[in-house]
Amino acid sequence: MVTVSGLPPLTESDVRRWIGDESFRRGQRYFDQDAILNPRRAGMMLRAQCQGSRSQPYRVQIALGPKGIVSGDCSCPVGGGGHCKHAAALLLTWLDNADAFADVEDMATMLDRRSKAELIDLIGKMVERYPELEMLVELPVPGEATSKPMGSGPGQCGGRWRRLCRAGGLAQCGGCVRDHHPRGAGSVSVYA
Ligand SMILES: [Zn+2]
Repeated sequence: MVTVSGLPPLTESDVRRWIGDESFRRGQRYFDQDAILNPRRAGMMLRAQCQGSRSQPYRVQIALGPKGIVSGDCSCPVGGGGHCKHAAALLLTWLDNADAFADVEDMATMLDRRSKAELIDLIGKMVERYPELEMLVELPVPGEATSKPMGSGPGQCGGRWRRLCRAGGLAQCGGCVRDHHPRGAGSVSVYA
């Protein structure tokens, strides 16, 4: 059991229950192979990369709450919800050695301290690395926009919104997207 001040005590059986037996067993192998890279904790959030079968490590995170594991996410194909083997490896690493997790501030606090020029520079670098983010930057500012630069109504926007939506980066979309996606849009998850 790991007990860190302000965080819920967590046991291996809590982790197994959250992950499920099969993924838990696979996660143990990743844990044994030291596949968890750069583990860090921002408040109640545990984050790391996990070196999986692909050359690029997966980004995995688990949110803790007062009573234990609350939610999770992983960039692997089955990682939505945080029940995959990479999430298991992250949690097993936490159980094994919570001190290995670097304490970092949560993203909102970090961004709040940056100047406007630094934020512009940061976003520029993010777009350079992930060009699909450019479409997010071009979204109308909430409360300001009256025009619809990408299309004026249902069915008139071409493929751009749909591509953006498929990329999973849609927080606010306007009439034409509601037309394509009647159940609404996803949310943005950008973490490294
Ligand atoms: Zn995963």
